[in-house]
Amino acid sequence: MAPLTFIPRLSGLRAGHAFGFLGAAFILAFGIMVALVALDQQRVLEATARLQEQTVPEIIRYQRLARNLEQLRQEGERVFSAGTPQARQQAMFVVTLVASHPSVLEHKEAADLARQTERFLIDVVRHSARDAQAFAASYDEWQRLAGRLGILVDDVSIQGINLATADLTDVAGAMRLARYKLTAALLVVSLFLVVFLFLVRGHLIHPLQRIDRALSSLSVDRPAPEFRPSAMVEIQVVEEAIGELHASLLENEVARHALEKLANKDGLTGLMNRRHFLQTADTELQRAQRYQRPVTVGMADLDFFKKLNDTYGHAAGDAVLRAFAELANEMLRQSDFVCRYGGEEFAFLFPESTLVEAEKLAERFRARCADYDIRIPDGRLVRVTLSMGLADASACPIEVALRRADEALYMAKRQGRNRIVLADASGTVA
Ligand code: GH3
Ligand code: MG
Ligand code: MG
Repeated sequence: MAPLTFIPRLSGLRAGHAFGFLGAAFILAFGIMVALVALDQQRVLEATARLQEQTVPEIIRYQRLARNLEQLRQEGERVFSAGTPQARQQAMFVVTLVASHPSVLEHKEAADLARQTERFLIDVVRHSARDAQAFAASYDEWQRLAGRLGILVDDVSIQGINLATADLTDVAGAMRLARYKLTAALLVVSLFLVVFLFLVRGHLIHPLQRIDRALSSLSVDRPAPEFRPSAMVEIQVVEEAIGELHASLLENEVARHALEKLANKDGLTGLMNRRHFLQTADTELQRAQRYQRPVTVGMADLDFFKKLNDTYGHAAGDAVLRAFAELANEMLRQSDFVCRYGGEEFAFLFPESTLVEAEKLAERFRARCADYDIRIPDGRLVRVTLSMGLADASACPIEVALRRADEALYMAKRQGRNRIVLADASGTVA
């Protein structure tokens, strides 16, 4: 697989450290964003509290002042429009009351204008009784005063509204800022998440999938899995361990083969041992019987071997056994089997051979053996003969066929040794 070069290289980093570092950076960045948002939140809370505790009462005061000034203007108007002196006096009474109202007195400009209005109206009322013409003439003056009162009412109303507008603008600004910061915080979270998932995918999930595939296909029949060097130490360790595992699998396989060979072989001659021969022969017989093919087994025993041992020594006997095994391997066909059955007894299996065909093979082997010079350890040459019994094995279990071959071998010994005897189909020996 082509290396994924776009993945940031984190060569030699421990996954735990890398992700710990990333997590810490994430927490730090997110913490800073949250703190900044909290500051704006605090600003909103403070502006709201100010609006509630200071601005709203202030607005109410301004409204009350505006209402009183408006009433002062209306009552002044009534002073001029009153039909009777009593009504004029009544209006004048309200003017005095309003002009001395605390809300008016605490606003300097309003207090000055109210005092001026009150004095003017007192003069107007005082002269109105004596001079009706002068009273009418002062109405122009009143209208100027009333106009100034009207302007002040508007100013006061606007001042109240301005107070609220300033606070609300502050709140709106803080909330807008908080929104931007929150959006930025979300972007930071998303960015970290994307980077995190990207790193996890490139440096953990994909390597683990490769490891999974490598482990699933790990076999002595295949070469060791190759990994592109991983960036994460933990993954490298696992990948190296897989390489070592493969190497030890190979070693085990070699050792298993060697052990299997040892377990199946006779130590002295290197021939198949009895156990392995019986297993192999059993399989061969089953195959032959299934396909109705001929197969023959043989039991051979070296003649007068005890005497050979006694004459030349046990080491000479061993040398003869080894030479006999070599000769058997040389003389037999690739498809034939021979094993050291025990001592100086050997068992043979001739697949695809009738009793007669096997006899020809065995006879050739016997003859060759009889004139084969074997060098024993002291340098002398000896010869050994063999007797063999053959039995057809195409229709009976291996144990039965071997027993019958052994009976034939016994007959060969009885008939004078150095010969081949066949067991006939009925089980008796020919
Ligand atoms: P026969 O012709 O009747 O078979 O005579 P024999 O002397 O061969 O008789 P027997 O089968 O009784 O003798 C077998 C001898 O083979 C006895 C034993 O000392 C010898 N022998 C068995 N195994 C080994 C071995 O591994 N090495 C050696 N040197 N001799 C062995
Ligand atoms: Mg014997
Ligand atoms: Mg013998």
